[in-house]
Amino acid sequence: MQLEGKVAIITGAGSGIGEAAAKLFASHGAQVVIADWNADAANRVAGEINGMEPMPGRAVAVQIDVSSEQQVKLFVQDTLDKLNAIDILFNNASVVLPKELEEVTDAEWTRTVDINLKSVYLMIKYCIPALRKSRGSIVNMSSLNGLIGQRQNPVYSATKGAVIAMTKALALDYAKDGVRVNCICPAGVATPLLEEWTRQQPDPEATVQALIDMHPLGRCASTDEIAQAALYLGCQSSGFITGVALPVDGGASLGY
Ligand code: ADP
Repeated sequence: MQLEGKVAIITGAGSGIGEAAAKLFASHGAQVVIADWNADAANRVAGEINGMEPMPGRAVAVQIDVSSEQQVKLFVQDTLDKLNAIDILFNNASVVLPKELEEVTDAEWTRTVDINLKSVYLMIKYCIPALRKSRGSIVNMSSLNGLIGQRQNPVYSATKGAVIAMTKALALDYAKDGVRVNCICPAGVATPLLEEWTRQQPDPEATVQALIDMHPLGRCASTDEIAQAALYLGCQSSGFITGVALPVDGGASLGY
């Protein structure tokens, strides 16, 4: 029970990696706050966690746009009013923008940077006083795209590279407070979104094979395997680790 009595905020926990993390953290005893702008998805995940017996942790769902300063400020105040503490902040929510730079509109640029990067700044800005009190842990979702390039994904890659840089800078700033800041860099993760994208490609079979080939371990990660990394960085098992960008990528960042 690595997270017994701990309060964990997970953004974008209404689906995919965030959902897997919410369930995993709750199974380790955490009180999980599922922060997602998709209220139905957030409520479904919270309902599933609260309906699971015996589940040591509990979940609450909150609808929020994590790129809005006003909403983040109110959300953090409300969380502290209800739960009194924040021990783990997992900044997981993000959106993708797979297209070439010339096709990216100004509005798309702003939306992607706001959701993937500004949200991390906002959540940390408002959670850090509570995290200092709890000597808590921040886990940010980056990507293999923040470490190495990917074709036709320049804006998403830029946001994920920036998340790595900010993680390292903040790890230095908050080390004196006992607050650790780390990030995770997954490659391919088997989610419904990825499967849908694969089906939409001109040659779905070749795309599936390319996804397999890019990982020396010969497959994409499961969402649970990424959530396990978030659990490790969020809990005291990683108590002497701060400022790392941890590839959880089946070796995809090693080169070939
Ligand atoms: P992944 O593969 O990274 O898990 P998903 O698309 O399945 O990707 O999950 C991302 C989650 O983040 C979704 O539940 C989505 O609703 C949420 N999300 C996206 N943008 C925002 C936002 N601005 N505020 C809050 N949640 C968001």
